Amino acid sequence: MTDRVVVAGAVYDRGRLLAARRSAPPELAGRWELPGGKLEPGERPEQALVRELREELGVEARPVERIPGEWPLMPGLVLQVWTVRLLSGEPRPLEDHDELRWLGPEEIHTVDWLDQDRPAVAEAARRLPAP
Ligand code: C5P
Repeated sequence: MTDRVVVAGAVYDRGRLLAARRSAPPELAGRWELPGGKLEPGERPEQALVRELREELGVEARPVERIPGEWPLMPGLVLQVWTVRLLSGEPRPLEDHDELRWLGPEEIHTVDWLDQDRPAVAEAARRLPAP
């Protein structure tokens, strides 16, 4: 069986990366992640990412490039990550998160990222645009 894909976004603004703190489920609550979620049937990854960022953060965003690699989550789920440009809106924690933080290059490692997000976060940090 092929793995189901979870897409997440490395959202940048003025040289900082957006981190989102999960509010659920209990075993993940309080940990930080790149916002995103599961593909729905028939969806392409980029479409799913646009939808998830709209639902979770209330923003319009455009996936720019896929960060090479794919990271296992729980069995049957893999994480793919895109860099993302914000088109409109100010991110707010509408769904699944209780806090958002913009992290500059020196701050990326100051939050408790989900273990499975760490390799993608490291790649996202390397691609952080200049402010
Ligand atoms: O957000 P959603 O519940 O749809 O995510 C599906 C699964 O992907 C969850 O198990 C979540 O922990 C995981 N996930 C992750 N890293 C992300 C986004 C989601 O591990 N950046």
